[in-house]
Amino acid sequence: MQEQLRKSDTLNVIGELAAGIAHEIRNPMTALKGFIQLLESSITKEHSLYYQVITTELQRIDSIINEFLILAKPQTISFQEKDLNQIMKETVDLLSAQAVLYNVQFVTDYDDRLPLIYCEPNQLKKVFINLIKNAIEVMPSGGNITITTKKIRKQQIQIIIKDEGCGISKEKIKKLGEPFYTTKDRGTGLGLMVSYRIIDEHNGTINVKSEEGMGTIFYINLPVNKLHPIV
Ligand code: ADP
Ligand code: MG
Repeated sequence: MQEQLRKSDTLNVIGELAAGIAHEIRNPMTALKGFIQLLESSITKEHSLYYQVITTELQRIDSIINEFLILAKPQTISFQEKDLNQIMKETVDLLSAQAVLYNVQFVTDYDDRLPLIYCEPNQLKKVFINLIKNAIEVMPSGGNITITTKKIRKQQIQIIIKDEGCGISKEKIKKLGEPFYTTKDRGTGLGLMVSYRIIDEHNGTINVKSEEGMGTIFYINLPVNKLHPIV
């Protein structure tokens, strides 16, 4: 089944709120982390497990805050003409170590006639990282992740990320992109939300096609020029 994922103003409101709160939490967090670190040397053996739990949970708060901050418009947002294949190649390189760990192979098919696109490259990289990481995480016993780029119309390009993981049921597809929706023990449920927001800001769309047990395909459509939104 295929479903058009929503573009909504709610995401913007949530984004601004989230970023504000994340900034506020960051300072006390820094203090906490610093003082906890100072305590390390005086922790007794019987308390060392507590200490471990505290530090891993602090790290977890940290990663949630960082994902939230991505929701905020970055200070130095810089839209520019870029080669999308290049951005994707850098992303694949970045994730290659994690892929090896999971026994996952990347199969890539880059359209070398892709026009440059007007985009915020770091933001797009974040989207690709989120989607590819999700794909890796649903293939604990390995498999292929197929990444394709292509020009689908004169003013539009498409990126396809396909995995051979557990797939997503019809009901659960509806929940993708909702803040905190996660099926993972240590997931944040923020990766897709952030990704949808970024693609929205590029006037693009994300579609997902999936079936339980059959793997998942994410389609990202992007206009070559942000000023010619996909309709
Ligand atoms: P997280 O990865 O922290 O759980 P995300 O927002 O990245 O948060 O993803 C939300 C949920 O969407 C995941 O927990 C998972 O249930 C589902 N999901 C995302 N990508 C895939 C995929 N490629 N295959 C199966 N399920 C997926
Ligand atoms: Mg994720």
